[in-house]
Formats: sequence, structure tokens, C-alpha cells
Amino acid sequence: RTTIGILGGGQLGRMLTLSGTAMGYRFVTLDPVADAPCGQVAHQIEAGYDDEAAARKLAEQCDVITYEFENVDAGVAALLERESYVPQGSTLLYTTQHRLREKRAIEAAGVRVAPYREITNLDTMQAAVRELGVPCVLKTVTGGYDGKGQRVIREVSQAVEAYEELASTGAELVLEQFIKFDCEISVVVARSTQGEIKTFPVAENIHVDNILHTSIVPARVPTEIQLEAQRLAAAVAESMQAVGLLAVELFVAADGRLYVNELAPRPHNSGHYTMEACATSQFEQHIRAICGLPLGDTTLLSPVVMVNVLGEHLEGVIDRMGQSDAEAMELGVIPKLHIYGKTEAKTGRKMGHVNLLCQDVEEGLQWIEQTNLWRNINS
Ligand code: ATP
Ligand code: MG
Ligand code: MG
Repeated sequence: RTTIGILGGGQLGRMLTLSGTAMGYRFVTLDPVADAPCGQVAHQIEAGYDDEAAARKLAEQCDVITYEFENVDAGVAALLERESYVPQGSTLLYTTQHRLREKRAIEAAGVRVAPYREITNLDTMQAAVRELGVPCVLKTVTGGYDGKGQRVIREVSQAVEAYEELASTGAELVLEQFIKFDCEISVVVARSTQGEIKTFPVAENIHVDNILHTSIVPARVPTEIQLEAQRLAAAVAESMQAVGLLAVELFVAADGRLYVNELAPRPHNSGHYTMEACATSQFEQHIRAICGLPLGDTTLLSPVVMVNVLGEHLEGVIDRMGQSDAEAMELGVIPKLHIYGKTEAKTGRKMGHVNLLCQDVEEGLQWIEQTNLWRNINS
């Protein structure tokens, strides 16, 4: 039997394991936290991600190794490649863990990103703000997620403070022009070790407080734009010779132009809707891609709205799911709850999600409104 190793033990690893176990694979995860979401369903090696002895142990026990986050230590990535089989390779990680390298790779595929400048000191910062104009966004090139490590600059006078604040972390910085988008969308694309490529349907994403709140599929944008987004995602995956999943986040500007915001070389929160709504889930697809199997059919079986369950929503959602749901019945919505098994339900922490299968996405959105659990949806 093939054993798959996952670096990282969070919910993405857990859902990969649940999906891959049904396909007959065995799973081992490496994570420092006891009883991690993935460790509850896979064998867990409890150690830090940068612990070389533990990584060696993972390599010994596994035939194939993947990861569920992109900030894998370069030394560990090299060790795993040497001592086991990492079909995704370390170049994909090297590129996507660094915003500047990532932008250059996207541009090399002939795909548009927001105009940007590398920031190395206060002089380049001031020149860049002048060239790109305001508003613009200053970001650390490494380590950011859920909007952490970013400052929006709305007036030229805010540039110095934003620079000093982020530069004090010691991180390299990039300044991006702020794209006045109509909406945000994403495409999860898979490329297999055999070079086969398939894209999932486009998701329309709504963020609240910089955290993904809702994904809506089909996205409420014109079909031509959706096809173009899928074409661009496939072009980036092909150009980068990516293996496994690549999630591509894009902005749809008012004039219909598409800009790639960022990439993630792993299953993505905005792809969770695929679990019940597509012929193949993103998790099954990732396993197929890294194990050299033919990719699965990505057809959308039903319109769907995915809503994240954060710490502050958990109790209410579980309560709700325990009751008979007259609104759901009336709306023709089928809610499917996924809980990640995290112990501490902290505010803003992703504890699970609900996939709302519906006839029309407006019904799913209406169900969310009516439950009154996600009061922040329009904030
Ligand atoms: P994630 O949790 O998706 O990894 P992150 O911390 O890496 O988030 P980004 O995706 O780069 O951050 O940005 C977070 C959000 O901030 C975007 O989804 C978008 O709403 C907004 N944003 C970021 N960059 C820009 C930009 N150049 N123009 C307009 N909006 C932007
Ligand atoms: Mg990101
Ligand atoms: Mg993002």
C-alpha cells in the first residue's frame, strides 16, 4: 500500500487524508501540535516542521510526500526530496512562498498582476508610491496570510509610517497598486505528474476582515470572464510546471480585466465547495495529481455556496444542524457541515465550513442570512 506523508496537520491535511483514505492510501502527518486535525485521522509524527530528524522519519515511512502550507523550510524541503519522493518538487514552494518570485512567475506565463515595486529602503518606497499612486498596498513578501503583514496606503502621507511598521519586522517588502475590483474570484487548477491539467469551476469569494467568508459557485460574473480565468490558471500551472493543486486568486476589475493576486500550491479554502458540488473534490484531485493517476472530472453537479465556520460561529452552527431545518427545506437548500476537530474555538479561527447545495446560489445566500449566525456578512 502506498503511504502519503503530509507536512502540516491542519484541516487541509485532514481533508486530504479523509479523501485519500477512501482511495486506499495510508497517511502520516508531521505537525508539532498533539492531536492535530490531520493527526486525528492519520498517523502523526509530533514534531516541528523544521525538525530534520522528524522529517527524515517522515521520509522513511512514506512513498510520496506533499504539504498543506507553503512556508516549508528550504532545508527540510531539500531533505525530503533527497530521501523520499516529493512529486511537487521544491521549486514550486520556493516560488510561491515569496510574493516577488511568485509575481515574476505569473508574468512569465503571460498573465497580468497588479503593478508592483520591490521595496528595499525608504527611498524606493517613496518613489514607488509616487509611481503607483494611491491607494496602494504594502506587503511583506513572505509569511503573510489572512491579510496579516499588509498595510493599505490611502494617502501619500501614510507611506513612511506603513514602511517603518512593516520594515521593522525585518521582512522584504513589495508595494502593489490597489486594484479597484468588482469582485474576487479563484480557480483551483490541478496538474498531474503526467502533465495533465484540469481546472475546477470559478468561485466568487467574499472576504470579511481579510478572512474568506463565502465562496459562491457558479460565480456571478460573465461566462467569458470565467473561461478566461480558467485559461489563465491553466497557463500559470503549465508555465510553472506545477504538480498537484495550484489555487489562483484573481481580481475582476470594473473593465473586466483579470489580475492574479496570489497563488497557493495546495488545496484552498475557496475550493472546499468541490467536496459535495463537483464530480471530483479538490482533495481527491490533488492525490490523483501527485500519485500519477488520471485527473478526475471537475464538472459542477450543483450550484453551491460555501460559508466558513469560525470560532465565533461554531456553537450556533452545531446547534442549528441539530435541529430540523424548515428554512432549508423551504429554500430547497441542502446544508452539509464539515468540522475540523480543533479543540479551541477562538474568534477568527477556521473551525469548519458548510457547503450549501442549492438550485440557485441566491437561495444558499438567503439561508445564510436567515440563520442569523453570520451577522458580519455585509460588514
Ligand atoms: P490569504 O489568506 O488569501 O493567503 P493574504 O494575507 O496572503 O491572504 P492577499 O490575498 O494578498 O493576502 O490579500 C488579502 C486581501 O486584500 C485580498 O483578498 C484583497 O481583498 C485585498 N487585496 C490585496 N492586495 C490587493 C490589491 N493589490 N488590490 C486590491 N485589493 C487587494
Ligand atoms: Mg496568501
Ligand atoms: Mg489571498
